[in-house]
Amino acid sequence: MNKKMKIIPIFVPHVGCPNDCVFCNQKKITGKGTVVANSKYVTEIVEECRKTIDEDTYTELAFFGGSFTAIDLRLQEELLGVAKHYKDMGVVDRIRCSTRPDAINTEILELQKKYGMDIIELGIQSLDDEVLKLSNRGHTRNDSINASKLIKKHGFTLGHQIMPGLPGSSREKDIKTCLESISMKPDIVRIYPTLTIKDTELVNMYERGNYKPLTLEEAIDISAFIYSQYAVNNINVIRIGLQNTESINEEEDVVAGPFHPAFRQLVEEKIYLSSIIQKLKGMNLNDRHIIITANYKLISFIAGQKKSNLIKLMEIFLIRKISFKNSLNEQLIEIYDKNNKLCSFDKKEIFQNYLNLQ
Ligand code: SF4
Repeated sequence: MNKKMKIIPIFVPHVGCPNDCVFCNQKKITGKGTVVANSKYVTEIVEECRKTIDEDTYTELAFFGGSFTAIDLRLQEELLGVAKHYKDMGVVDRIRCSTRPDAINTEILELQKKYGMDIIELGIQSLDDEVLKLSNRGHTRNDSINASKLIKKHGFTLGHQIMPGLPGSSREKDIKTCLESISMKPDIVRIYPTLTIKDTELVNMYERGNYKPLTLEEAIDISAFIYSQYAVNNINVIRIGLQNTESINEEEDVVAGPFHPAFRQLVEEKIYLSSIIQKLKGMNLNDRHIIITANYKLISFIAGQKKSNLIKLMEIFLIRKISFKNSLNEQLIEIYDKNNKLCSFDKKEIFQNYLNLQ
Protein backbone atom coordinates (compact mmCIF):
# COMPACT_ATOMS: atom_id res chain seq x y z
CA MET A 1 0.00 0.00 0.00
CA ASN A 2 1.66 3.24 -1.15
CA LYS A 3 -1.03 5.56 0.14
CA LYS A 4 -0.34 7.85 3.08
CA MET A 5 -1.73 6.51 6.34
CA LYS A 6 -3.77 8.58 8.77
CA ILE A 7 -5.07 7.37 12.12
CA ILE A 8 -8.09 9.07 13.63
CA PRO A 9 -7.58 8.35 17.33
CA ILE A 10 -10.69 8.16 19.48
CA PHE A 11 -9.59 7.94 23.11
CA VAL A 12 -12.08 6.19 25.37
CA PRO A 13 -10.21 6.47 28.67
CA HIS A 14 -11.07 3.94 31.34
CA VAL A 15 -14.65 3.66 30.11
CA GLY A 16 -15.66 0.03 30.29
CA CYS A 17 -12.64 -1.05 32.23
CA PRO A 18 -13.66 -3.29 35.13
CA ASN A 19 -10.43 -3.06 37.11
CA ASP A 20 -7.18 -1.28 37.79
CA CYS A 21 -4.08 -2.97 36.46
CA VAL A 22 -1.12 -2.01 38.64
CA PHE A 23 0.76 -0.34 35.77
CA CYS A 24 -2.14 1.59 34.30
CA ASN A 25 -3.11 5.15 34.64
CA GLN A 26 -5.22 5.23 31.53
CA LYS A 27 -6.07 8.87 32.00
CA LYS A 28 -2.38 9.71 31.77
CA ILE A 29 -1.65 7.35 28.91
CA THR A 30 -4.36 8.70 26.67
CA GLY A 31 -3.85 12.28 27.83
CA LYS A 32 -7.59 12.81 27.64
CA GLY A 33 -8.63 12.21 31.23
CA THR A 34 -11.80 14.28 31.29
CA VAL A 35 -13.31 13.07 28.04
CA VAL A 36 -16.94 11.91 27.84
CA ALA A 37 -17.13 9.44 24.98
CA ASN A 38 -20.36 9.67 22.96
CA SER A 39 -21.43 9.98 19.33
CA LYS A 40 -20.97 13.76 19.36
CA TYR A 41 -17.38 13.34 20.58
CA VAL A 42 -16.56 10.81 17.84
CA THR A 43 -18.21 12.95 15.14
CA GLU A 44 -16.28 16.04 16.21
CA ILE A 45 -12.93 14.24 16.10
CA VAL A 46 -13.61 12.72 12.67
CA GLU A 47 -14.82 16.03 11.25
CA GLU A 48 -11.72 17.79 12.60
CA CYS A 49 -9.39 15.13 11.13
CA ARG A 50 -11.21 15.14 7.77
CA LYS A 51 -9.88 18.64 7.15
CA THR A 52 -6.38 17.22 6.74
CA ILE A 53 -7.31 14.02 4.85
CA ASP A 54 -6.85 14.03 1.09
CA GLU A 55 -7.78 11.41 -1.51
CA ASP A 56 -4.42 9.69 -1.31
CA THR A 57 -4.82 8.90 2.36
CA TYR A 58 -5.69 5.51 3.82
CA THR A 59 -7.65 6.32 6.97
CA GLU A 60 -8.07 4.25 10.07
CA LEU A 61 -10.46 5.11 12.90
CA ALA A 62 -9.03 3.68 16.12
CA PHE A 63 -10.72 3.34 19.49
CA PHE A 64 -7.77 3.53 21.87
CA GLY A 65 -7.53 3.49 25.64
CA GLY A 66 -9.90 1.75 28.02
CA SER A 67 -11.33 -1.59 27.02
CA PHE A 68 -13.56 -0.94 24.08
CA THR A 69 -15.58 -4.15 24.00
CA ALA A 70 -16.18 -4.01 27.76
CA ILE A 71 -18.16 -0.78 27.41
CA ASP A 72 -21.90 -0.91 27.91
CA LEU A 73 -23.31 -2.40 24.67
CA ARG A 74 -25.58 0.58 23.99
CA LEU A 75 -22.67 2.99 24.20
CA GLN A 76 -20.55 0.68 22.01
CA GLU A 77 -23.32 0.75 19.39
CA GLU A 78 -23.51 4.53 19.63
CA LEU A 79 -19.77 4.95 19.05
CA LEU A 80 -19.57 2.23 16.40
CA GLY A 81 -22.59 3.71 14.61
CA VAL A 82 -20.61 6.89 13.93
CA ALA A 83 -17.55 4.91 12.83
CA LYS A 84 -19.64 2.83 10.42
CA HIS A 85 -21.34 5.93 9.06
CA TYR A 86 -17.94 7.35 8.06
CA LYS A 87 -16.77 3.98 6.73
CA ASP A 88 -19.90 3.72 4.56
CA MET A 89 -19.20 7.24 3.28
CA GLY A 90 -15.65 6.23 2.34
CA VAL A 91 -14.09 8.72 4.78
CA VAL A 92 -12.73 5.86 6.91
CA ASP A 93 -11.15 2.76 5.35
CA ARG A 94 -10.68 0.67 8.45
CA ILE A 95 -11.89 0.57 12.09
CA ARG A 96 -9.84 -0.82 14.96
CA CYS A 97 -10.10 -1.09 18.72
CA SER A 98 -8.07 -2.34 21.64
CA THR A 99 -9.60 -4.35 24.46
CA ARG A 100 -9.20 -6.90 27.26
CA PRO A 101 -9.13 -10.66 26.53
CA ASP A 102 -12.03 -11.33 28.93
CA ALA A 103 -14.23 -8.80 27.12
CA ILE A 104 -14.56 -10.95 24.01
CA ASN A 105 -17.39 -13.36 23.25
CA THR A 106 -19.46 -14.32 20.24
CA GLU A 107 -22.17 -11.73 20.90
CA ILE A 108 -19.61 -8.93 21.19
CA LEU A 109 -17.79 -10.01 18.04
CA GLU A 110 -21.03 -10.18 16.08
CA LEU A 111 -21.75 -6.62 17.15
CA GLN A 112 -18.29 -5.52 15.96
CA LYS A 113 -18.87 -7.28 12.62
CA LYS A 114 -22.22 -5.57 12.17
CA TYR A 115 -20.58 -2.16 12.54
CA GLY A 116 -17.59 -2.81 10.29
CA MET A 117 -14.83 -3.34 12.86
CA ASP A 118 -11.69 -4.65 11.12
CA ILE A 119 -8.91 -5.01 13.70
CA ILE A 120 -9.19 -6.10 17.33
CA GLU A 121 -6.08 -5.70 19.46
CA LEU A 122 -5.97 -7.72 22.66
CA GLY A 123 -3.96 -6.51 25.63
CA ILE A 124 -2.68 -9.96 26.55
CA GLN A 125 0.37 -8.40 28.30
CA SER A 126 1.65 -11.76 29.63
CA LEU A 127 0.61 -15.38 29.23
CA ASP A 128 1.83 -16.30 32.70
CA ASP A 129 -1.02 -16.52 35.22
CA GLU A 130 1.19 -15.55 38.17
CA VAL A 131 2.36 -12.40 36.37
CA LEU A 132 -1.23 -11.55 35.39
CA LYS A 133 -2.29 -11.95 39.02
CA LEU A 134 0.53 -9.79 40.39
CA SER A 135 -0.35 -7.16 37.80
CA ASN A 136 -4.02 -7.27 38.85
CA ARG A 137 -5.07 -7.86 35.27
CA GLY A 138 -8.25 -9.67 36.31
CA HIS A 139 -8.03 -12.20 33.46
CA THR A 140 -6.09 -15.38 32.79
CA ARG A 141 -3.86 -16.83 30.10
CA ASN A 142 -6.78 -18.98 28.94
CA ASP A 143 -8.91 -15.88 28.39
CA SER A 144 -6.25 -14.62 25.95
CA ILE A 145 -6.07 -17.95 24.13
CA ASN A 146 -9.85 -18.25 23.81
CA ALA A 147 -10.32 -14.62 22.76
CA SER A 148 -7.58 -14.90 20.12
CA LYS A 149 -9.20 -18.01 18.65
CA LEU A 150 -12.64 -16.38 18.54
CA ILE A 151 -11.33 -13.18 16.94
CA LYS A 152 -9.59 -15.14 14.19
CA LYS A 153 -12.58 -17.42 13.71
CA HIS A 154 -14.79 -14.37 13.12
CA GLY A 155 -12.39 -13.11 10.45
CA PHE A 156 -10.99 -10.03 12.20
CA THR A 157 -7.35 -8.97 12.04
CA LEU A 158 -5.92 -10.01 15.40
CA GLY A 159 -3.51 -7.82 17.33
CA HIS A 160 -1.57 -8.74 20.45
CA GLN A 161 -0.08 -6.24 22.88
CA ILE A 162 2.54 -7.62 25.24
CA MET A 163 4.39 -6.05 28.14
CA PRO A 164 7.84 -7.38 29.05
CA GLY A 165 8.99 -6.58 32.58
CA LEU A 166 5.71 -6.87 34.51
CA PRO A 167 5.77 -7.74 38.25
CA GLY A 168 6.82 -11.37 38.78
CA SER A 169 8.04 -11.75 35.22
CA SER A 170 11.49 -12.69 33.97
CA ARG A 171 13.31 -12.87 30.64
CA GLU A 172 12.26 -16.54 30.34
CA LYS A 173 8.60 -15.77 31.08
CA ASP A 174 8.57 -12.85 28.63
CA ILE A 175 10.07 -15.04 25.90
CA LYS A 176 7.54 -17.79 26.65
CA THR A 177 4.73 -15.25 26.32
CA CYS A 178 6.12 -14.18 22.94
CA LEU A 179 6.42 -17.75 21.65
CA GLU A 180 2.91 -18.65 22.82
CA SER A 181 1.58 -15.47 21.25
CA ILE A 182 3.25 -16.45 17.94
CA SER A 183 1.52 -19.83 18.11
CA MET A 184 -1.83 -17.96 18.14
CA LYS A 185 -0.84 -16.30 14.83
CA PRO A 186 -1.61 -12.63 15.53
CA ASP A 187 -1.42 -10.42 12.44
CA ILE A 188 0.07 -7.45 14.27
CA VAL A 189 1.85 -6.92 17.60
CA ARG A 190 2.78 -4.05 19.90
CA ILE A 191 5.56 -4.48 22.43
CA TYR A 192 5.32 -2.15 25.42
CA PRO A 193 8.09 -2.67 28.00
CA THR A 194 6.58 -1.88 31.39
CA LEU A 195 7.03 1.66 32.69
CA THR A 196 6.34 2.77 36.25
CA ILE A 197 4.02 5.70 35.68
CA LYS A 198 2.97 8.27 38.27
CA ASP A 199 -0.31 7.64 40.16
CA THR A 200 -0.31 3.87 39.67
CA GLU A 201 -0.09 0.98 42.11
CA LEU A 202 3.18 0.00 40.45
CA VAL A 203 4.79 3.13 41.90
CA ASN A 204 3.81 1.98 45.41
CA MET A 205 5.17 -1.50 44.71
CA TYR A 206 8.39 0.04 43.40
CA GLU A 207 8.75 2.34 46.40
CA ARG A 208 8.12 -0.55 48.82
CA GLY A 209 10.85 -2.54 47.03
CA ASN A 210 8.35 -5.10 45.70
CA TYR A 211 8.94 -4.32 42.05
CA LYS A 212 12.17 -3.93 40.15
CA PRO A 213 11.71 -2.25 36.76
CA LEU A 214 13.73 -3.30 33.72
CA THR A 215 16.75 -1.12 33.00
CA LEU A 216 16.82 0.52 29.58
CA GLU A 217 19.49 -1.96 28.49
CA GLU A 218 17.43 -4.97 29.68
CA ALA A 219 14.31 -3.64 27.98
CA ILE A 220 16.15 -3.11 24.68
CA ASP A 221 17.63 -6.58 24.96
CA ILE A 222 14.35 -8.43 25.59
CA SER A 223 12.45 -6.30 23.06
CA ALA A 224 15.10 -7.02 20.39
CA PHE A 225 14.77 -10.75 21.02
CA ILE A 226 10.97 -10.74 21.02
CA TYR A 227 10.76 -8.45 17.98
CA SER A 228 13.13 -10.75 16.07
CA GLN A 229 11.01 -13.79 16.96
CA TYR A 230 7.90 -12.11 15.58
CA ALA A 231 9.80 -10.86 12.50
CA VAL A 232 11.10 -14.29 11.49
CA ASN A 233 7.56 -15.59 11.86
CA ASN A 234 6.31 -12.87 9.46
CA ILE A 235 4.31 -11.09 12.16
CA ASN A 236 4.26 -7.33 11.82
CA VAL A 237 5.44 -5.51 14.97
CA ILE A 238 3.74 -2.16 14.58
CA ARG A 239 5.04 -0.49 17.76
CA ILE A 240 7.81 -0.96 20.28
CA GLY A 241 7.81 1.26 23.39
CA LEU A 242 5.13 3.50 24.85
CA GLN A 243 3.87 6.31 22.71
CA ASN A 244 5.37 9.59 23.81
CA THR A 245 2.16 11.62 24.05
CA GLU A 246 2.10 15.16 25.30
CA SER A 247 1.20 14.00 28.78
CA ILE A 248 3.69 11.13 29.17
CA ASN A 249 7.17 12.36 29.32
CA GLU A 250 10.16 11.11 31.19
CA GLU A 251 10.61 14.03 33.55
CA GLU A 252 7.02 14.42 34.70
CA ASP A 253 5.27 11.07 34.51
CA VAL A 254 7.70 8.19 34.43
CA VAL A 255 8.84 7.40 37.96
CA ALA A 256 11.05 4.49 36.90
CA GLY A 257 11.59 2.09 34.04
CA PRO A 258 13.03 1.97 30.54
CA PHE A 259 11.56 5.09 28.97
CA HIS A 260 13.29 6.44 25.89
CA PRO A 261 11.66 8.70 23.28
CA ALA A 262 13.32 6.73 20.45
CA PHE A 263 13.01 3.28 22.01
CA ARG A 264 12.26 1.43 18.77
CA GLN A 265 15.26 3.00 17.06
CA LEU A 266 17.49 1.67 19.88
CA VAL A 267 16.03 -1.82 19.49
CA GLU A 268 16.39 -1.83 15.70
CA GLU A 269 19.97 -0.58 15.78
CA LYS A 270 21.00 -3.22 18.32
CA ILE A 271 19.65 -5.96 16.03
CA TYR A 272 21.31 -4.53 12.91
CA LEU A 273 24.68 -4.00 14.62
CA SER A 274 24.85 -7.53 16.07
CA SER A 275 23.83 -9.10 12.77
CA ILE A 276 26.29 -7.11 10.67
CA ILE A 277 29.17 -7.90 13.08
CA GLN A 278 28.25 -11.56 12.72
CA LYS A 279 28.24 -11.28 8.90
CA LEU A 280 31.62 -9.54 8.71
CA LYS A 281 33.29 -11.76 11.30
CA GLY A 282 36.57 -13.24 10.07
CA MET A 283 36.97 -10.80 7.15
CA ASN A 284 40.11 -8.68 6.93
CA LEU A 285 38.75 -5.13 6.57
CA ASN A 286 41.80 -3.37 7.94
CA ASP A 287 42.09 0.21 6.55
CA ARG A 288 39.38 -0.48 3.91
CA HIS A 289 36.64 1.83 2.65
CA ILE A 290 33.38 -0.10 3.01
CA ILE A 291 30.19 0.80 1.15
CA ILE A 292 26.83 -0.35 2.45
CA THR A 293 23.99 -0.42 -0.05
CA ALA A 294 20.58 -0.29 1.60
CA ASN A 295 17.23 1.44 1.31
CA TYR A 296 17.21 4.85 2.98
CA LYS A 297 14.58 3.59 5.48
CA LEU A 298 17.13 1.13 6.90
CA ILE A 299 20.15 3.40 6.95
CA SER A 300 19.43 4.99 10.36
CA PHE A 301 19.11 1.50 11.91
CA ILE A 302 22.40 0.39 10.36
CA ALA A 303 24.23 3.60 11.25
CA GLY A 304 22.78 3.94 14.76
CA GLN A 305 22.04 7.13 16.67
CA LYS A 306 24.90 9.61 16.27
CA LYS A 307 26.55 6.99 14.01
CA SER A 308 27.18 4.83 17.08
CA ASN A 309 26.95 1.57 15.07
CA LEU A 310 29.34 2.83 12.39
CA ILE A 311 31.84 3.89 15.04
CA LYS A 312 31.65 0.43 16.65
CA LEU A 313 32.07 -1.34 13.29
CA MET A 314 35.09 0.82 12.46
CA GLU A 315 36.64 0.06 15.85
CA ILE A 316 36.02 -3.68 15.72
CA PHE A 317 37.19 -4.25 12.13
CA LEU A 318 39.69 -1.33 11.93
CA ILE A 319 37.74 -0.01 8.91
CA ARG A 320 38.99 3.36 7.59
CA LYS A 321 35.67 4.65 6.25
CA ILE A 322 32.06 3.48 5.84
CA SER A 323 29.70 5.14 3.41
CA PHE A 324 26.16 4.43 2.24
CA LYS A 325 24.51 4.08 -1.14
CA ASN A 326 20.73 4.22 -1.35
CA SER A 327 19.00 1.21 -2.87
CA LEU A 328 15.42 0.91 -4.07
CA ASN A 329 15.23 -2.61 -2.67
CA GLU A 330 13.74 -2.26 0.82
CA GLN A 331 14.63 -5.81 1.81
CA LEU A 332 18.23 -6.25 0.70
CA ILE A 333 21.45 -4.99 2.30
CA GLU A 334 24.74 -5.39 0.46
CA ILE A 335 28.23 -4.63 1.74
CA TYR A 336 31.05 -3.81 -0.70
CA ASP A 337 34.78 -3.26 -0.44
CA LYS A 338 35.34 -1.02 -3.50
CA ASN A 339 33.54 -3.04 -6.19
CA ASN A 340 33.86 -6.40 -4.52
CA LYS A 341 30.72 -7.62 -2.83
CA LEU A 342 31.64 -8.88 0.63
CA CYS A 343 28.20 -10.11 1.61
CA SER A 344 24.48 -9.50 1.22
CA PHE A 345 21.49 -10.36 3.33
CA ASP A 346 17.79 -9.69 3.43
CA LYS A 347 15.89 -8.14 6.32
CA LYS A 348 14.60 -11.47 7.57
CA GLU A 349 18.15 -12.79 7.77
CA ILE A 350 19.06 -9.84 10.01
CA PHE A 351 16.51 -11.02 12.56
CA GLN A 352 17.45 -14.68 12.20
CA ASN A 353 21.12 -13.81 12.69
CA TYR A 354 20.24 -11.90 15.82
CA LEU A 355 18.35 -14.86 17.24
CA ASN A 356 21.20 -17.25 16.38
CA LEU A 357 23.53 -15.11 18.47
CA GLN A 358 21.44 -15.40 21.64
S1 SF4 B 1 -7.58 -3.27 31.52
FE1 SF4 B 1 -6.56 -1.71 30.31
S2 SF4 B 1 -7.60 0.22 30.79
FE2 SF4 B 1 -8.16 -1.25 32.36
S3 SF4 B 1 -6.75 -0.85 34.03
FE3 SF4 B 1 -5.90 -2.50 32.77
S4 SF4 B 1 -4.57 -1.55 31.26
FE4 SF4 B 1 -5.86 0.06 32.18
